[in-house]
Amino acid sequence: MKTDRADILACLRESEDYVSGQQLCDRLGVSRTAVWKVINQLKEEGYLIESASRRGYRLVESPADVYSESEIASRLHTKWAGKKLHFFEVTGSTNPDAKRFAEEGALHGTTVVADRQTAGRGRRGRSWESSAGTSIYFTIVLRPKFSPDKASMVTLVMALAVAEAISEVTGLDTGIKWPNDIVVNGKKVVGILTELSTMPEMNEIQFLVAGVGVNVNQNSAEEFSEEIRKTATSLRIESGKSVFRAALLERILSRFEEDYEIFEQTLDMSVLRERYEARLAGRDAGVQVLDPSGAYAGVSRGITDTGELVVEKENGERVLVYAGEVSVRGLYGYV
Ligand code: ATP
Repeated sequence: MKTDRADILACLRESEDYVSGQQLCDRLGVSRTAVWKVINQLKEEGYLIESASRRGYRLVESPADVYSESEIASRLHTKWAGKKLHFFEVTGSTNPDAKRFAEEGALHGTTVVADRQTAGRGRRGRSWESSAGTSIYFTIVLRPKFSPDKASMVTLVMALAVAEAISEVTGLDTGIKWPNDIVVNGKKVVGILTELSTMPEMNEIQFLVAGVGVNVNQNSAEEFSEEIRKTATSLRIESGKSVFRAALLERILSRFEEDYEIFEQTLDMSVLRERYEARLAGRDAGVQVLDPSGAYAGVSRGITDTGELVVEKENGERVLVYAGEVSVRGLYGYV
């Protein structure tokens, strides 16, 4: 449910002309004083709102890259993805927050968003650099009815939604580095970490959380630590333009909702596979599979309907690579 603030913001943004105080009251079922209070709060936050007697209010300009619960909620038109939002200026990591909300009964689609993380995480206990004011960090809670063996495909569904949303908003050509990273011009802009909670002793999912980190408005590679400077980039560095985070997050959640519903119908990647493979980085090129039980090289040939990467070894043998413990690299570089 949207807050009054998000609703008022949405009404103002969606109207080209002035919106009268009465219209706002009628639409939201709140008093004139309540509307007036919210308008004042929004002005204090930096929204430029013109008021004209008898005509009402008009949103002239929003603060640059304003990123708040109301701004994000006012843009969402989804059925369930992000319908319930928790926004934090700063948190440890949105994945554990989402798990906590899920344990307390949070609904399917509940989303935790943060402006900064102090302990952002990657796969296998690695960390995710999470500076303030520049990036998107969010985690969505899902309550699937399918069995745990299908869960790894949710990472692929999310990767597809994020990659397409970024391309839609920025015009950048995004690639997916199977299974969970998104790259632009050979460097990583997005990491995805999906985690599962199963019912004790039962082959059933209690909930699943899918966390996403997007490097959005970093100005230069120097903003990343030396450790990742060669492999990390941001949408701004690659496109030369800054990106409005709330608008990008809206596109991501909306596309994810659509793609997840497609996935749910077949519980595999059969319908989404073509779109996923169209973005698969290094397809038909040499890859190295860093398997903990031994690395090997081959040529990446796409994915199966159940989301495994198909790698053809030199002797022609086709190996299915399961997500989880494995990282895939280009033969001569990161991608
Ligand atoms: P890889 O193939 O890169 O090893 P992975 O999926 O195993 O991918 P993740 O767990 O998704 O890696 O992400 C963690 C890794 O990503 C870190 O070890 C670091 O190398 C890199 N990294 C950390 N923060 C960022 C960031 N903000 N932008 C890009 N890369 C980052």
